[in-house]
Amino acid sequence: MKTTSSLTTIQKKIRLCQKCDLCITRKNAVPGKGNHNADVVFIGEAPGKNEDLYGEPFIGNAGKKLNDALENAGLTRSSVYITNIIKCRPPKNRIPNDIEKMMCSGYLKDELTIVNPKIICLLGNTSYYSILGGKEITKNHGKFVRKNNHLYFITFHPAAIIYNQKLEKIFKNDIKKLVEELRKLKTKP
Ligand code: URA
Repeated sequence: MKTTSSLTTIQKKIRLCQKCDLCITRKNAVPGKGNHNADVVFIGEAPGKNEDLYGEPFIGNAGKKLNDALENAGLTRSSVYITNIIKCRPPKNRIPNDIEKMMCSGYLKDELTIVNPKIICLLGNTSYYSILGGKEITKNHGKFVRKNNHLYFITFHPAAIIYNQKLEKIFKNDIKKLVEELRKLKTKP
C-alpha cells in the first residue's frame, strides 16, 4: 500500500544508516525527496557538497540546472520525486564503488516500489550503468527502455551541463521528450 508514512520510514532509516563507511565521512545522509505519488522519479549519482551539508538531493548547481529543465518542460519540482543511487556523499565526490552501491540498493528499490512512478529518469552514467548496465550516455540519451515492469528514460547528469554549455539545450529537449511521453501515458485509455 502506498502511504506517506512508509516513505518517511525509509527516509528515517537512510538518515541513520551505517551500512558502509560513507557514514563516517558524511555530514548528512540524503534520502530522496518529493511527491510520494510522483509520475516521474529522477535518479542521480550521489549527494555532493551542498546536499551533504543540508541533507537534501540536488540543491546545488546541478540542482539548479535540473530545476530549469523541469520548469522549461512544464514540470514543477514539487510534482516529482528526486533521489540518488547512493545516499551519502563519497569523499571528494568520487564515483560510488560497488560496495556502496550494493549497500544502498535496497533503499532505492523501496523508494521506487512505494512511489511507483510511470517513468524513471536516469541522470547520467552512474545511474544508467547501475540500473540498466548501460554505457555511453552521449549515444543513448533521449531513449526509453522498458525493463522489469518499469519504463526508464536516459539522459545526461545535470552537472555535465555546468561544464559543457552545449548540452543544456539537449538536456532540456530530453526532459521535454520525457514530459510528452508522460502526457501520452496519462491520456491512454
Ligand atoms: N549530483 C547528484 O548526482 N546528486 C545530487 O543530489 C547532487 C548532485
